[in-house]
Amino acid sequence: MKQLYLFSALVIISVQSAIAGYLDEYEAEKVSNQVYVIHGPLELPNESNEGFMNNPAFIVTDSGVVVIDPGSSVHTGNMLLREIRKVTDMPVIAVFDTHIHGDHWLGNDAIQRTYPDADIYAHHKTISMIDNGEGQNWLDLMHDMTKGATDGTSIVNARDALKGGEDLSIGGHQFQIIHKGQAHTVTDIMILYKQDNVLFTGDNVTNKRIIRMVDASFKGNIETIESAKKLKPAVVVPGHGKTGGAELLDNYHAYLSTLYNNVSKYFEEDLSDFEMKPLIHDELSDYHDWSGYEDELGKHISGAYLEIEADAF
Ligand SMILES: [Zn+2]
Repeated sequence: MKQLYLFSALVIISVQSAIAGYLDEYEAEKVSNQVYVIHGPLELPNESNEGFMNNPAFIVTDSGVVVIDPGSSVHTGNMLLREIRKVTDMPVIAVFDTHIHGDHWLGNDAIQRTYPDADIYAHHKTISMIDNGEGQNWLDLMHDMTKGATDGTSIVNARDALKGGEDLSIGGHQFQIIHKGQAHTVTDIMILYKQDNVLFTGDNVTNKRIIRMVDASFKGNIETIESAKKLKPAVVVPGHGKTGGAELLDNYHAYLSTLYNNVSKYFEEDLSDFEMKPLIHDELSDYHDWSGYEDELGKHISGAYLEIEADAF
């Protein structure tokens, strides 16, 4: 009897913790006729946010659902599936992973478990890097940053390799793939969903969040945004932060180009990265309230400095 009571108590506790789960609070927002986005929090992965920080999205086509960036774990992927089922009973038929960073693609696991026949697309360098150890590195990093909240996630790599320039027809709808070389990483794809003129930028563009650029080319990222502007999207879904219009491209382009052009100017004047930081900080007043700005500014100046120095030789 005592054992039975203990068992009941455990069941109640586990049900309660499921009810109070952090990911239960999130809902997909409709951003165009066919596109829905779950806007993740702006802080870095931690124990309380269970590693969730990106913008998992889905598109309802004529014959199934297309997912973009299912998130940082099997749990965020399951959250996305829960939100898809509120809109349609159609299966997930395709997934796009925008780049190598695990907060965007580790949720593939949830999609594959439920829809094993779904095509999973990524840049071919994303696929080879996941195979060659980056997948495990990201799984370990998420485990460490969240104190195990992402545990239970398995590495599910993309299988359908892209190189950029493809025009795909999925579920009767058209998707254009854009890759312009190294930008946020060497692996980025942007996806233009032509029906609704919605551009998914991956981390080539963010909104109100300054992100790590350790794998980036500042110059390449700036040029990639310039090519995105030529597409004239009506709606822009950034890698992090709220969805908006084409002004998101201008805002993030202005951050990167102000930073890069000033580092370039002060490099010519023989200032060290340390000396130029307060001057560049003053130029970036529009971004002081962006999440991550304080943490990243010095690193971004150092990164741009090294890039400009390398280009000078
Ligand atoms: Zn990223």
